[in-house]
Amino acid sequence: MKKVFYFVLILSAFAACENQHPKEENHQSSQDAEFDTYKTELIEELWKLNPVWASYEGKHDYDEQLSIPDEARKEEERNFWNKVEQQLDSFDIVRLSPNNQIDYHLIKDRIASSVFYRETFQSGKWNPSSYNLGGAFFQVLNYRAHSLEERLNDVLLKLNKVPAYYQAAKMNLERTTEVHAQLAIQQINGSLSIFKNTLTDSLEAAGLDEAFNTQFASAQNEAVKAIEDYLNFLEKEFIPAHKDRYKDFRIGKELFEQKFKHDIQSGFSAEEVYQFAMEEKQKLHEKMAKTAENLWPKYFEDEQPPSDPLELISKVITEVSKVHTHRDSFVVTIRKQIPELESFVQNKGLITLDPNKPLTVRETPEYMRGFAGASISAPGPYDAEAETYYNVTPLDHYTEEQAESYLREYNQYTLQILNIHEAVPGHYTQLVYSNQSPSIVKSIFGNGAMIEGWAVYSELMMIENGYSEGQPEMDLMYYKWNLRTVCNTILDYGLHVLNMSEEEAMDLLVNQAFQEQSEAEGKWRRARLSQVQLCSYFTGYYEIRALREEIKTKLGDQFDLKQFHERFLSYGSSPVKYIRELMLKDMED
Ligand code: ZN
Ligand code: ZN
Repeated sequence: MKKVFYFVLILSAFAACENQHPKEENHQSSQDAEFDTYKTELIEELWKLNPVWASYEGKHDYDEQLSIPDEARKEEERNFWNKVEQQLDSFDIVRLSPNNQIDYHLIKDRIASSVFYRETFQSGKWNPSSYNLGGAFFQVLNYRAHSLEERLNDVLLKLNKVPAYYQAAKMNLERTTEVHAQLAIQQINGSLSIFKNTLTDSLEAAGLDEAFNTQFASAQNEAVKAIEDYLNFLEKEFIPAHKDRYKDFRIGKELFEQKFKHDIQSGFSAEEVYQFAMEEKQKLHEKMAKTAENLWPKYFEDEQPPSDPLELISKVITEVSKVHTHRDSFVVTIRKQIPELESFVQNKGLITLDPNKPLTVRETPEYMRGFAGASISAPGPYDAEAETYYNVTPLDHYTEEQAESYLREYNQYTLQILNIHEAVPGHYTQLVYSNQSPSIVKSIFGNGAMIEGWAVYSELMMIENGYSEGQPEMDLMYYKWNLRTVCNTILDYGLHVLNMSEEEAMDLLVNQAFQEQSEAEGKWRRARLSQVQLCSYFTGYYEIRALREEIKTKLGDQFDLKQFHERFLSYGSSPVKYIRELMLKDMED
């Protein structure tokens, strides 16, 4: 038996040697070509099955569709992913290119996560706010590449399915948490205005014929009735019946670990990451106390510093936060900082920036406002050539008091860290690299922990390379900023797994992380509504930092920071554990 095996092996090795290169390449590219074709088909099927998701991703071929969340639909999904699993098994992963290997993993992981959400987590049974169609209709109506007439035709067909949609929603609900019930009432009331006013306005603007208008108005009327009926059901029937037996918003250890595994795709468990975060908090407090102590005389002269280190830190932070830009210069200040960050990155040789892809800083367009602050508008996977914007909302609409509080939060120091995080070398730089290896699979199944982790890591990396030189205030504010990320994880895990009370949560955020009361309250609400997502920032950051140290140790003097960054980003927005696997393998070769 063994001999025969050897013989075959030697023979094939010999054959391979004869013509190794071209043969290998052919082989590889044919598997890759097949896999590429397969991915395209898979994604198309996915959009057919998920028309609303498709609209959100900029794929508007199925805008007139709406899936009804019933048993038949569940079965359809089950069959779809079972088929995907079989098809995937016909590929030999080791013969795929590194980028396709990651895509293969991402699809595999998606199959497992669809099972988890469909069969185990089942939030459709207890989260009444998950049945909200405002965004689904807004995406269709707002797609300007389709004529208004075309959009309204799609909307009409979609409207016809709304009554069946809410019928199924009512059937699905078995229980609810208090906080999700409140959210449902608030959000569904909010999106009613799209169904009442926005649709009416669009119909009037289009000036279509009378027959269409009549048909449309009647479908619109039926949809509004269905949504109001759902709200009525929640308020008068469902919530009163469950008031005394609300489901706990805490999902518990087992579900938290599972959801963490599917959403974060980390090499660590949630419990491990929580432990890392606890250690990190301790280290940050030590560093902050030292920095605050040094800064004390500058701000408080002869006054005696408090003996409690947390109190000391808090007092210095309050003083340092008073240094900020004027409310009218907010946008200008950010615009001025981007080229400064770019030249710092270039001078220090941290990562190559593409000069052909400048970032445009603009005032957030009116229709996107609502949340103050800053965000990156990145083109979707179906519109990759579109420009990328850094949206900054001016503070025009704030009262004097609101503006002051906001400017203290985004003071002279934190504003720079915000720009590092959002723009250079954070989200924006990562995005430019990610678009160089375009993969629809990566952009739709992309890993949030890697994306956020990179932005958080880039803050550290700038500080390590001397960004705060001569400004201990900058260090202190960086630590505070970083501590927020760390405490997001502690709060999330603490709340859902360790039974953390509201009082303990407030103590963590206000006294140990130096946040404003209002910010802390918002976080407490968000942590009850979501699960695991708040862990993504710290987990991604921790894993990237650990990977860098691992490679540094392996390479010793050969380690090159710039090379590490560029190689790391070349795999797209993939989970850090898969990037790690490929980078380590690459080093061995
Ligand atoms: Zn001020
Ligand atoms: Zn971010």
